[in-house]
Amino acid sequence: MRKVFTLVMFSLCWLLTFSWSAHELFTYLLVKDFLPNADKLIRITPYDYTEKRVYNREFLRLDDYCGEFITSCPLTSTCYLPPDPKPVDGKVPVWQILMVYSVEPDLGMDEGLQLSSLQSIIGNSQGVRHMKYNIAIFEFFEGTQSFYYFVEMSRQAFMKGDEYWGYRFLARALHHLQDLSMPYHNAPGGFFDTLRALTDKQMAQVLSNSHYSYDEYLAYLLYQYDQDAVTAIKQAQPVNTRHLRQLIQKVRWLGLSNIDGVDRQLRKIYGESLKERILTTSDYSAHEDELDELKGITINIISKFSSLVRGFLIDFLKEVGQI
Ligand SMILES: [Zn+2]
Repeated sequence: MRKVFTLVMFSLCWLLTFSWSAHELFTYLLVKDFLPNADKLIRITPYDYTEKRVYNREFLRLDDYCGEFITSCPLTSTCYLPPDPKPVDGKVPVWQILMVYSVEPDLGMDEGLQLSSLQSIIGNSQGVRHMKYNIAIFEFFEGTQSFYYFVEMSRQAFMKGDEYWGYRFLARALHHLQDLSMPYHNAPGGFFDTLRALTDKQMAQVLSNSHYSYDEYLAYLLYQYDQDAVTAIKQAQPVNTRHLRQLIQKVRWLGLSNIDGVDRQLRKIYGESLKERILTTSDYSAHEDELDELKGITINIISKFSSLVRGFLIDFLKEVGQI
């Protein structure tokens, strides 16, 4: 039985990217005007930790690269990007550490590793750490564990008085939480489509292309500073959860409960294209007037997600004595 499911994983996952895009801008909008200590200056400190995780050392950077991270617009047209000032007197503000390093887990540190027995099946170790699937009684991937891991690393750093790494590890935790709010990071597709994809190669391709395409959609909205999307994040009121487990459950449910709606909208507008390719931002701008429902679903996800993250940040930063 497990073999069957791993085969589904293989057919659906091996080509996927693993990012719910625009992490830096999403994080910037979440924290800059919200955290009471967002502008507090933090002294940059060297990395001095023993970790339980292995990383791809070729891509893992442990020096500070605030001030040299945001270089160009990821879209072909002009886009909105957060500021990225150079450190002053060896210090950087809280918001900038969270913004810059929320992208870090996607920059190669999790690629090319041997992480699990599913490694050879999905063909990319990054996916193991950035996604989480539950199919029947089986669990695949470690997206939730990645979040817990970096929250714990952050807690340890703050406990020993290392604020810089406390925020840098927290930024990585935010990355994984953002990933888990993305519908296709929680399942290959809707339940029946996933079953069908077992025997239907074209369906497997459509689901794979839908994943890539929807990753791009949020980036498209945020980089062009869509007022509805930006307002949904900036005005989100913090919502508390009892513990990290409940936070994860709520965040994952936001993704899972919307996968059918996203699938339906993408296929209604781009059904034929999705059989062959991944959508680009020009597909979205060309059909702007048909995207109301997809945009509504997406804004609903990011609005509720932003409330949950803000509730978590306030609780956590109080716990470690930062606010
Ligand atoms: Zn990721």
